[in-house]
Amino acid sequence: MKKLALHWKILLGMVLGVIFALTMTNFSWGGDLIGDWVKPFGTIFINALKLIAIPLILAALIKGISDLKDISSLSQMGIRTIITYVITTVVAVSIGLMVVTLVKPGSSINENTRNELVEAYGGEAEMKREAAAKQKDAGPLQALIDLVPSNIFEAASSNRNMLQVIFFAVFFGIGLILIPEEKSKTVKEFFDGFNEVILKMVDLIMLAAPYGVFALLAALVVEAPSADLFTALGMYALCVVLGLLLMIGVYVLLVKIVTKKSPRFFLNGIAPAQLLAFSTSSSAATLPVTMERVTEHLGVEEEVSSFVLPIGATINMDGTSLYQAVAAVFIAQAFGMDLSFGTQLGIIATATLASIGSAAVPGAGMVMLVGVLGYAGIPEAGLALIFAIDRPLDMCRTVVNVTGDATVSMMVAKSQNKLGEPKVKDWDDNYNPQA
Ligand code: ASP
Repeated sequence: MKKLALHWKILLGMVLGVIFALTMTNFSWGGDLIGDWVKPFGTIFINALKLIAIPLILAALIKGISDLKDISSLSQMGIRTIITYVITTVVAVSIGLMVVTLVKPGSSINENTRNELVEAYGGEAEMKREAAAKQKDAGPLQALIDLVPSNIFEAASSNRNMLQVIFFAVFFGIGLILIPEEKSKTVKEFFDGFNEVILKMVDLIMLAAPYGVFALLAALVVEAPSADLFTALGMYALCVVLGLLLMIGVYVLLVKIVTKKSPRFFLNGIAPAQLLAFSTSSSAATLPVTMERVTEHLGVEEEVSSFVLPIGATINMDGTSLYQAVAAVFIAQAFGMDLSFGTQLGIIATATLASIGSAAVPGAGMVMLVGVLGYAGIPEAGLALIFAIDRPLDMCRTVVNVTGDATVSMMVAKSQNKLGEPKVKDWDDNYNPQA
């Protein structure tokens, strides 16, 4: 087991978790056993990852920004990051729309299945709608107001306020650049050391990753709804997964074209973060590992990764936006609605915004989907249609969200001349055994 690369160990943990849970479902007490004695270890694992997310953002961002020579390189990097994030998101939504329009999964849903699903999941869908309604009662500039915390300790007390913590860290970092060297030196060194400690903590937590994902997947399997529903929604799920795979292809291509790094180098480097994203369904919980992989295994300098990745984890969700487009059109098809070209363009815009607004936690994309449905005049009751299968799709879209962040960080690093050789090599593009 020792020599196995981390991503294989995690994969093994996932597979064994599923097999274990499937075996346990044969016993009447199996589900309870997993719920009481296995699932808690998965929860502890996710908590440990979330525990270090805020300290990591603070330490890494403050250190990263204070390493920049001046404010203009920060604004240059900021603009490049945001533009690239928005472009990849628009590409993702367009891919989603294309796939769902070609495959038309909604037409395979007959009225009986539709009524059955609405009856079974109407209650849960209502809860998502209420959560969305709470977010909706805000003015047009609310997002901007929410960016600036009135108390940093209050902001840092919840993982949901990551953007506020990012704002504070960037602001603090700018202050640090602007004060004289002899005053800033100690503060920089402190955050430098702090950052190292947090990265070491990520390493330690990752030692437990194979066991953590075992517990997470086992719990998911015993809590999953019946297989019949999965078949009814099979075509829809297939569209989402197909779109997501295409998006991974886009990333690999972008990495190849922009940074000249091979798909193997990229995927080997990022795989543990992808597997964790799959197991936890949370970009925020995965962030510490994404940062570690991108910095140590993909060669992105910390100045870039510490800035691009936390922002990406909160606002760049290509997988989520793609899913929102597919889900919206699927529901429209299932209700026999035809969407005009103008409405489809509107879906591109609203899904882009909705994914930016989605929190990096499980199920958040579905809450924000309500906004997309509302815009396009698609019945919100349709949420009940897709509820049963949302969790597995959430797992898949989170993988894409995390991969997208890593891709953009490599592209921005390349454009800033901050992409070097990785400290740890999982795959060497230059190594040629024949030579
Ligand atoms: N679970 C996703 C994430 O954390 C968000 C979502 O689409 O629900 O990236």
